Order: sequence, then C-alpha cells, then structure tokens
Amino acid sequence: MPKIIYGGQSYECDEGSVLDCLTAHGVAVPSSCRSGVCQTCLMRVTEGEVPEKARAGLKPTLAAQNYFLACSCYPEKDIEVALPEAGLGRLEAKVARVEYLNADILGIRLKPSRTFEYKAGQFINLFKDEATARSYSLASVPALEEELFLNVRKVPGGLVSGWAFADIKAGDTLTISEASGDCFYVPGQPEQNILLIATGSGLAPLYGIIRDALLNEHHGKLSLYHGSYNADGFYLVDELRRLAQAHPNFEYVPCISDGEASVGYASGMVLDVALADNPDLSGWRVFLCGNPNMVNAAKQQTFFAGASMRDIFADPF
Ligand SMILES: Cc1cc2nc3c(=O)[nH]c(=O)nc-3n(C[C@H](O)[C@H](O)[C@H](O)COP(=O)(O)OP(=O)(O)OC[C@H]3O[C@@H](n4cnc5c(N)ncnc54)[C@H](O)[C@@H]3O)c2cc1C
Repeated sequence: MPKIIYGGQSYECDEGSVLDCLTAHGVAVPSSCRSGVCQTCLMRVTEGEVPEKARAGLKPTLAAQNYFLACSCYPEKDIEVALPEAGLGRLEAKVARVEYLNADILGIRLKPSRTFEYKAGQFINLFKDEATARSYSLASVPALEEELFLNVRKVPGGLVSGWAFADIKAGDTLTISEASGDCFYVPGQPEQNILLIATGSGLAPLYGIIRDALLNEHHGKLSLYHGSYNADGFYLVDELRRLAQAHPNFEYVPCISDGEASVGYASGMVLDVALADNPDLSGWRVFLCGNPNMVNAAKQQTFFAGASMRDIFADPF
C-alpha cells in the first residue's frame, strides 16, 4: 500500500485519492469540486512521481514544476507532497552590478550565495527588511548567465523600488526568496507561434523567456511587442534588435502610444498594434506582462482572437 508523506508524517493511502487520504487524517488541504476541474487542491510532489492523470488539465508550466491535483491523484508508489505555498526558501545574494537601463528602470545583477534553480521569467521576492518584500521577475536565463538579472521600475513613493534606486549598490548583500511563478517557456512545441506583449518593466520576464526559447531552438514565430508612451520608455533596445537580426523567427516591435513614432517604432497602443498584426491567435502561446489594465484586457482579447486559456500566461504588475 503506497504511503503519502506530508509535513514529516506518513499516511497509508489505502483506496482513495491523495486528497481523500490527507483530509481523512485531518490535514487541511484546500479543495472544492473534487473532480479535477477547479484546481483548488493543487499540491506539489517533492519526492517520487504521481500518475500522469493527476496532472490532467494543468498548465504545462505547473506540470513542469511537479504540481498535481490531489483529488485526481491515486498514487501507485510512495510519494512526498507539499502544499504550493509551503514556504519559498530565502537566501543571500551579492549585488554584482547596478546600471540604469533607462531613466526609470534599474538593472540589478545578483550572484546568489548558493545553487539557485529557476526558469527565465519566474520571479523572486526581494526583501528590503524582514517585513517588507516585493516580487521582481527574472530577465536572466540560467544556461546563459551566472547572475540573476532584475529590471526594477521606479514607482513614485515606492518603498522597495525607491530603496533600490537610492541605496542598492555593487557589493551589497541582499536577501531574496527562491523563484516562483508560472510565466516561463516550456520546451516541447518548437513550431508553436508565441506572442509576447509588455509595458514598462514587464519586458523583464519576456526578455528571459525569448532568449530561453531561442536557446531551446524554438522555430515558430516569436513576436515581442513592447509598449511605452514615448521612445524614452524603452530599454534593452540594442540587445533586442541584435537578437532579431540573428534570429529571423524573432520580431521586436517597440510601440509608442503617444505621438508620432519614428523609423523602427510602431505607433499606437501596444495591444492594438499586436492584435492588428496578428488577428488570428489560434494555436498560439501568449505571454502578457506589465500594467494590469493592459494585461487584463490582453488576456480577454487574445482569448477572443483564438488563443486557448491554457496557453495564456500573464503577470500583471
Ligand atoms: C509576479 C510579479 C512580478 C513583478 N515583477 C516586477 C519587475 O520585474 N519589475 C518591476 O519593476 N516590478 C515588478 N513587480 C512589481 C513589484 O513587485 C512592486 O509592486 C513594485 O516595485 C512597487 O513596489 P514598491 O515597494 O516600490 O511600491 P509600494 O510602496 O508598494 O507602493 C507605493 C505606491 O505606488 C503604488 N504602486 C505599487 N505598485 C505599483 C506599480 N507597479 N505601478 C504603479 N503604482 C504602483 C501603490 O499603490 C502605492 O500607492 C512585480 C510584481 C509581481 C506580483
């Protein structure tokens, strides 16, 4: 009879699902439909393997992080499991370099004090002090660079971004969390077209995702649209133009929403431009990051243009 190990305790799983077993033993696992639809009972397997059926309907990014649905999981062998929020560990990281990417966005490169596993596009929490932390996306790609790369936008009156701009310097030691989030590239469908839309520092995760996809020899279209009021809001422009020159399947379209656009820029709201260029998104994967109004509208409109909800990944911030 397989055992389920949870929180250091071992439970025999005689008949039912992982959810049945744990709740019968008084473990509080959130659940609702109990039939694999609502995904409330999401858990993570930390040791061993769960049957494929326990991942049915999950986004590939969640499956890739060993998440499964406790209500649909009938284990065949011993497994150790945890709730998803069971603590992101903390670690120290040394600031290797700080640079202005434009007047409002600070690039911070960090060297973690120990092995740090992540996927480009996930986020970490940066601690200003014990009680104050904010999330920042990872623009770096583990296989391409040793340092973590953050893009922090200056928020007027912002506690953590204000501190980053005023105080963080090379040589400092900061506290960060392990990486989390499901906004990243999963290899396996190299021919799928991918649309990526960002405003402001929403470019950070997408810069990581694009380079990760290219590294994995993605050969479907990779179309990146970055929106700003004016040309001053863009950053990493040379790097992105160089990537576009080197990879014919990658297209970079900076969009100016206020006023006339000069050569090399599109004119209009980033979402409008992206959808006018790509009206049929059936079968596409979509990544949306940045301003919550843009991201929420884009989620709806890319879905109406044919993208499946399962293929839409979004980080509004
Ligand atoms: C998953 C995730 C990933 C993120 N990745 C990044 C990233 O890569 N780069 C980045 O710059 N930020 C990112 N953010 C946003 C970041 O976590 C902070 O919310 C942001 O830096 C503001 O924090 P603060 O302490 O400076 O401001 P706060 O002290 O929290 O807020 C100060 C004031 O600004 C307002 N405010 C807060 N956030 C914003 C905002 N984003 N825009 C406008 N006004 C705001 C608040 O309502 C408040 O009035 C991410 C957020 C999430 C959830």
